[in-house]
Amino acid sequence: MSTNASSRIFYTKPSITDREVGYATDAATTGWGERCYEYIGRFEREFAAYLGTRHAIATSSATGALHLGMAGLDIGPGDEVILCDSNWIASAAPIIHLGATPVLVDADPVSWCLDPAAVEAAITPRTKAILAVHLYGNLCDIDSLAAIAQRHGLALLEDAAEAIGSAWKGRKAGSMGRFGAFSFHGTKTLTTGEGGMFVTNDDTLYERVLTLSNHGRARGETRQFWPERVGFKYKMSNVQAAIGCAQLERVEELVAAKRRIFSGYREALDGLPLRMNPEPPGTVNGVWMPTIVVDDGIRFDRADLLARFKADNIDGRVFFWPLSALPPFEPRPGHAVSHRLSARGVNLPSYHDLGDAEIARVAGHVRRLLEAAT
Ligand SMILES: *Cc1c(COP(=O)(O)O)cnc(C)c1O
Repeated sequence: MSTNASSRIFYTKPSITDREVGYATDAATTGWGERCYEYIGRFEREFAAYLGTRHAIATSSATGALHLGMAGLDIGPGDEVILCDSNWIASAAPIIHLGATPVLVDADPVSWCLDPAAVEAAITPRTKAILAVHLYGNLCDIDSLAAIAQRHGLALLEDAAEAIGSAWKGRKAGSMGRFGAFSFHGTKTLTTGEGGMFVTNDDTLYERVLTLSNHGRARGETRQFWPERVGFKYKMSNVQAAIGCAQLERVEELVAAKRRIFSGYREALDGLPLRMNPEPPGTVNGVWMPTIVVDDGIRFDRADLLARFKADNIDGRVFFWPLSALPPFEPRPGHAVSHRLSARGVNLPSYHDLGDAEIARVAGHVRRLLEAAT
């Protein structure tokens, strides 16, 4: 691979091998007629086995999986769902589409995810669920959130779209809540181009979501074209599932690549006034996005770093804006942590094949900028 200084460094791109191409070719050649669901069924079974959940339903996106799961729990008008202000809008949109209200709370400064104390303070008689989003692979404090959910009779839901490969005390992210949602968008650690997965251990919720995912048609229904309620159409195609099966066979390798890149950055940035994705004892961080957050008190404008990256043909990504800073939401200037993370955080490039020379090239820009600022 070329490592000259002008070659473009993408922030992500899928890792595709002969295995993915072979499975996709097979699905496109033979996966029709009575075989049109073969790879879909296999991907669902193998994903559930990998995660350790009873059920999995392949979807067209994580957004769809979240929408289905929350609809399956009857979340709707008058209900509130608590989630972190530091987030991508995909986590909040399904709540709004269901007519419920997303209640945004400030982030925890260490995990960059839900602050359990802020969650507890935001609970009202209308609260129905807590949506734990494991940001950039970082884990929410699941034990505290589960205790709060239990105490108040709420559903704890997991958006694990960014957290394949992350684990909390031996349990995989996405397998610990009432349901979990995954994304296989082209930027994610494991990809099918577009795609997602709904997972749950709850047999009743599984049946409800299966019916909802099939335009409201229950699987025991003998009449053709007979929906029992208005459902959704968020399905994955067999060709996408074939790519997913190949990616899943390589999942340990895909996650190991993210972790190798993260360690490379951590070494290269050692001693600088910044923090990176945490990995508390007893947890594994799949680090979908190796991320820096520059310490308070250090002069830093993320636009300066992104401009240096751009001049050297390197893709950078801003840390998510607080949702409350976006036009569809009420401003929450008091959410100091979420605002600070956004102002002082940048995601570094991390496609799976990123080499040591590229890591050094990216880290060099961060080091020179911060050394000039201190
Ligand atoms: C990518 C992402 C989603 C949306 O995934 P899609 O498959 O694009 O719908 C949802 N939540 C989080 C946290 C994400 O990173």
